[in-house]
Amino acid sequence: STAPADTPTIFDKIIKKEIPSTVVYEDDKALAFRDIQPQAPTHILIIPKVKDGLSGLSKAEERHIEILGYLLYIAKVVAKQEGLDDGFRIVINDGPSGCQSVYHLHIHLIGGRQMNWPPG
Ligand code: 5GP
Repeated sequence: STAPADTPTIFDKIIKKEIPSTVVYEDDKALAFRDIQPQAPTHILIIPKVKDGLSGLSKAEERHIEILGYLLYIAKVVAKQEGLDDGFRIVINDGPSGCQSVYHLHIHLIGGRQMNWPPG
């Protein structure tokens, strides 16, 4: 995307509860909510509450290292909470070729069915 890295997205409205979402985990740094167009029985998005220029993984700077690790850890916490004991998939889409559609970094947590590899 050519949009500035700090351009607001729909996820800002979700964080502020200006539009509804099904929140499954929330703390001071991270929010996890169900994807509106689930690709599996469990499909959750984990996002940083403060975007800080992190429109996508390709925009990551050294200052983002801590939140990136934190979000990945929260993905594991939510996977456990969702009962995905047999496994799950983590996806970060980046840029046009990666099929990214919302430019606020998010981790997809997908599970509840057999995944395939390669994804295509
Ligand atoms: P991306 O394609 O950028 O990796 O993923 C963006 C995801 O956000 C998509 O899976 C899409 O279904 C989800 N999404 C977009 N708008 C909304 C919304 O308003 N609410 C929720 N819960 N999910 C959304």
